[in-house]
Amino acid sequence: MQTSTILPTMKLSERAKSIPPSITLAISAQVKELKAAGKDVIAFGAGEPDFDTPEKITNAAIEALRLGVTHYMPSSGTPEAREAIANKLRIENNIECTEANISINSGAKMSINLALMSILDPGKNQEVVVPTPAWVSYKPMIELAGGTMIEVPTSVDTGFKCTPEEIEAAITPNTKAIMLNTPSNPCGTMYAPDELRAIAVMLQKHPTVYILSDEIYDELIYSDIEHLSLGSIPEISHQVITINGLSKAYAMTGWRVGYACAPENVAKAMNTLQSQINTSITSFCYATIPVALEMKDEVEEMRKVFAKRAALMFELIQKWPNTECAQPTGAFYAFPKISYYYGKTTPAGTVIQDSVGFVQALLDETSVAVVPGTDFGGCGPDHIRLSFACSEDQIETGVSKICDWLSLFTT
Ligand code: PMP
Ligand code: GLU
Repeated sequence: MQTSTILPTMKLSERAKSIPPSITLAISAQVKELKAAGKDVIAFGAGEPDFDTPEKITNAAIEALRLGVTHYMPSSGTPEAREAIANKLRIENNIECTEANISINSGAKMSINLALMSILDPGKNQEVVVPTPAWVSYKPMIELAGGTMIEVPTSVDTGFKCTPEEIEAAITPNTKAIMLNTPSNPCGTMYAPDELRAIAVMLQKHPTVYILSDEIYDELIYSDIEHLSLGSIPEISHQVITINGLSKAYAMTGWRVGYACAPENVAKAMNTLQSQINTSITSFCYATIPVALEMKDEVEEMRKVFAKRAALMFELIQKWPNTECAQPTGAFYAFPKISYYYGKTTPAGTVIQDSVGFVQALLDETSVAVVPGTDFGGCGPDHIRLSFACSEDQIETGVSKICDWLSLFTT
């Protein structure tokens, strides 16, 4: 007779145990599963354009594949791709840079990880100051690199923006960097140039503090506010690491192409780390970079569609009873405050405790998927995030469904 031995479970590192899964990706995966099971879900979860990648970009990759660009590549990338990125940053963002300042990575997520690993020393109590609510991955990425995230909480009343004084109050001798994301995920708002210039004046007093400026939504703006790159301000440009990538404006989320423009020694360190971690981005994706960065008409077409959706979603959310929402002026998110409903009862009889409970009940009772604000930090637990990277029909139906649902709550 065979006896079965019960083997002990192998132990995980404290680091692995401390990192939560990405809620934004988890919601997208849940929606895909529900749809695959035949459920008719209206999804406002995914932070990714619903457009196909423009054909010229896809063709550039196919051409590269045909030419046999399928082998290991240098960790710093191809000179053509680096030069195309430096050229975009010089012309569109007024950042003085050369290809020596550029590191090309597997998505902007990887660029942020490599930048943090290049500037933080684990075990030395180093802090990174971040206005919150902020994108869910910042905190885990800072912690994986050995730092601690220090939050500067903001609120819907100020469009989720903080003042130079509020940021400065969070700076200590342990501060290694501040991270700013404008236009913002999840808030959908952005800083005006004057507000950024005032922050830059304050940062001049802290010349050893790095500034990680996440500008991945810089081409997705829906008001007359201009995007200003902190790296274009000469007095602080030596402190700035600009993060960007092709995922959002070029509908290329799955291609995993991100980049950083950093002081030369930092860019070099990022490329060295990359050489040990994942070598480079996928070989044939380099060829897409110069093509994508030249495609201004297609990007403008997509921006115009997003702008219409932003206006429609905001108009419909304003009809929701007892909620507050800042007008989305960039990226593709609205971030309404829904905490009035905590402690109240849904039409199907569930008492809502928090944002996570709200989102679950909404999905169960109306088949509309949104992201709970909890993991974005700060006042996030009082909010939900809706992405408007979906059709106007879906916005019309889904956002109105939420309105009807909210009006049937009881106390
Ligand atoms: N920064 C922000 C603010 C984001 O919302 C995202 C979304 N994924 C990223 C960086 C990373 O983008 P990716 O890795 O897809 O290039
Ligand atoms: N950034 C997007 C979002 O917030 C994509 C998912 C992710 O990488 O978090 O939905």
